[in-house]
Amino acid sequence: MRTRFDVAVVGTGAGGLTAGLKLARDGYSVLLLEAGKQFGGMLNPFRRRDYHFDVGVHYVGEAGEGQAMRRLLDGLGLEAMRFREINPECIDRYMLDGYEARLVKGVDAFIDRLKADFPAERANLDRFRRVMDACVALSKMNFGGPTASRVGTVLREAPEVLRLLRAPLGDVINRHFSDPNLRAVFAGPGGDIGLPPSRASAIYSLLVFTHYLGGAYYPVGGSGAMRDAYVEALEQHGAELLRNRLVTSIEKLHGGDFALLTSKGERFTARAVVSNMDAVPTFEMLEGAEPNVFVRRKVKRMRPSLGSFCVFAATDMDVAKAGMSDANIWHYGTSDIDAGYATILDGRMPDNPFYFLTVPTLKDPESKRAPEGQHTVEIVSFVPTGLFKPFFDRPTKRRGAAYEALKQELTELFLERAETYLPGLRDHTLYTEAATPATVWSYVRGRDGGIYGPDHTPDQVLLGRFPTEPGVPGLSLAGASVLGCGVMTCMASGMLAARAAKKHLVHEGVQPGAKARTTATKGAAPRASASA
Ligand SMILES: Cc1cc2nc3c(=O)[nH]c(=O)nc-3n(C[C@H](O)[C@H](O)[C@H](O)COP(=O)(O)OP(=O)(O)OC[C@H]3O[C@@H](n4cnc5c(N)ncnc54)[C@H](O)[C@@H]3O)c2cc1C
Repeated sequence: MRTRFDVAVVGTGAGGLTAGLKLARDGYSVLLLEAGKQFGGMLNPFRRRDYHFDVGVHYVGEAGEGQAMRRLLDGLGLEAMRFREINPECIDRYMLDGYEARLVKGVDAFIDRLKADFPAERANLDRFRRVMDACVALSKMNFGGPTASRVGTVLREAPEVLRLLRAPLGDVINRHFSDPNLRAVFAGPGGDIGLPPSRASAIYSLLVFTHYLGGAYYPVGGSGAMRDAYVEALEQHGAELLRNRLVTSIEKLHGGDFALLTSKGERFTARAVVSNMDAVPTFEMLEGAEPNVFVRRKVKRMRPSLGSFCVFAATDMDVAKAGMSDANIWHYGTSDIDAGYATILDGRMPDNPFYFLTVPTLKDPESKRAPEGQHTVEIVSFVPTGLFKPFFDRPTKRRGAAYEALKQELTELFLERAETYLPGLRDHTLYTEAATPATVWSYVRGRDGGIYGPDHTPDQVLLGRFPTEPGVPGLSLAGASVLGCGVMTCMASGMLAARAAKKHLVHEGVQPGAKARTTATKGAAPRASASA
C-alpha cells in the first residue's frame, strides 16, 4: 500500500470530502482516513429493511441554480448532484403559543407575512429586514473568506450588524420586538444550532435563518447520494480513501512532513494535513508542533454543542392526508423557547420536550426511500448528554439493558408527541430506531456526543471559532469547528482548508501531478449501509 502522500485528510465529513476533492482535482496525491465504517461523517445514511434514513441532512440552503452551494458543487465537477426544492411557500412551520409561523422563501416575502400577522410591529419588522439583508450579504462571503473590504462594505451599509457580533440572539430580538410569538419566530430555528435564544449567537442564528430564506432543498437520493458523488469523484481523481482508520496521532516531523498513525498500526506521511475532526482532539493528538497561543486557549475552553435524540420511524400512514408536507415542523407549543431548553441545559429531561418533525419521503418522492404507500418519519430533539455519558465507551449495539430501556422510553415519548401531527402514528409504525449522543460519539466522534461541533454561543463563533490555519505550517482545519455547523458551511470550510494546504504545498515546492495510483481502484462507494 502506498504510504506517502502530498496531503492527508483526517475524517470524511462534508468538510473533509470537499477539501480532499478540491486538492485531488488540483493534481495533488490525497489520502483520506476515516475512523467510521463508512465515509461521509454526518452525510452517511443508513438502511434498515427497505427504509433509507439520513442522519445529518434534513434540508440545505443555497442549492438552487446560481446559488453558493450549487456553484461550489459545480466547481468540484459534481454537476450531477441534484436537489429538489422544498415548497417555497412553506419551508418550516414553527408551532408556538397558539400561533403557527411559516417560513417562506425570500426575506421580503417572509417579513411581509409577519407584518400581516403582527401589524403593531410593522416598523420593527422593517428595521429588522435591514439586519437580515446584511446577514444575506455576509453569508455570501463563506467561500471567498471574509476579507476586510467585504466586511467593511456590509458594515457601512448595515451598521446594525455590528451589534450582532457579540450579542446573544435573545437580546437582539427582544430589542426589536415586543410580541412574545414574534420573538419566538426568530428564535424558532435555533434548533439548527441547538441553542435557546438567550445563549445562541445572534449573528450565527440569523445567518442560518437567512440561509434557508434563500430557498431550501433536499438532495435527491438523500445525503447518501451526496456522499457517494464525492467518493466517486475522489476515486476518479486518484485519491486514496480508507475506512475503519481511526487516526491516533499526528506528528510534525523535523523535515516538515507529518506522520499519521492509525488504530490499525499503519503509518502514513504527508506534506500537509487537513483535519476534519473536531479541532480539540486534533490538537490533543498533535505532536512535534504547537498551534499559536490563540488556538491553544481555544482548545482549553471550547465547549461542545448539545447532543440529540433522533427517532427514525417507518409508517404506512397516509401522512399527506394527516396534513404533513415536505415542510419541517418545529414544535415548541410555547413562545418561551428558552424554557424549552432550560431543563435540558440543567441536565434533566423535560416532561414536555420540543421537537423537530419531518417526513423525508415527501421531500424526495422519486428516490423510493420506503416501499409504495409507506413513509419514513424523523423526529429530532435535544437531550442532556449526561444521561447517556455512562454508555459512551460501551460497544455499539451492546450497551446493555439500561441503555435500551432509556432509548425505548424516549422513542415512545417522541412518537406519542408526534401524534399531534400524525394522529395514530404509533398504531401505524412499522419500524423504529433511535440515535443518542452515544451513537454520535461512536459513529462520527462528535465530542461529548454533540451534533454541531463547538457550541454556537457568541464567544465561539466568527473569530471565537478555530481558524482554518491554526499556526502549524501545513496543518489546516475543516468542518464544524471552523466556520460553524451545517453542510454548506462545512463544505465552505473544506474549500478554505484546501486553499491553505495548497498555499503550503506551493511554498514547499510540491508540484501537483505526481500522484499516479499504485493501488487498484476499490470500486464504487459503499452505499447506504451504516447504522445510526
Ligand atoms: C441530527 C442532525 C441533523 C442535522 N440536520 C442538518 C440539516 O438539515 N442541514 C444541515 O445543513 N446540517 C444539518 N446537520 C449538521 C451537519 O450534518 C453537520 O454540521 C455537518 O455535516 C458536519 O460536517 P463536518 O465536516 O464537520 O464533518 P462530520 O460529519 O462531523 O465528520 C467528521 C468525520 O471525521 C471522522 N473522524 C473523527 N475523528 C477521527 C479520527 N481520529 N480519525 C479518523 N477519522 C475521524 C468521523 O468519523 C467523521 O466521519 C445535522 C446534524 C445532525 C446530527
